[in-house]
Amino acid sequence: MKGSKFNHINKLRVPAANVEHLKNFCYNHNLALKFFCTSCEEPICDKCQVLGPHNNKLHKISTIPDSFQDKFNFIHNQVQNKLYGKCQILMNNIECIEHNIQDIKTEKSRLESDLRIDYTTKFENIRYTSLFNTYY
Ligand SMILES: [Zn+2]
Ligand SMILES: [Zn+2]
Repeated sequence: MKGSKFNHINKLRVPAANVEHLKNFCYNHNLALKFFCTSCEEPICDKCQVLGPHNNKLHKISTIPDSFQDKFNFIHNQVQNKLYGKCQILMNNIECIEHNIQDIKTEKSRLESDLRIDYTTKFENIRYTSLFNTYY
């Protein structure tokens, strides 16, 4: 795109290497991000805890692996609890539906049997009447 009118847009982009640097180093102190402020939900460096902006009791600091584990446990429990409840409700609903299907099947069999008896009785009556009319 040399000479293109869009060249100035490319110049505004942060180079990929700088993006990687920003992901691993503190924006304020340019030190490696070793900790995590759970109050602010952001990774921080050594100096952030001492010089600020995460240097008072309002900020709960832990190591990145610990905060990851805490977060993972929290989400895992939430998912487990919510899913377990929903799963129980679904299982109960399935049980009810299966019960209803069984009831419908039983009712269908009963109706079929009644119809068969009714049909046979009526058929026999007609046969008997026609035989009777033939001979008398
Ligand atoms: Zn903080
Ligand atoms: Zn820092």
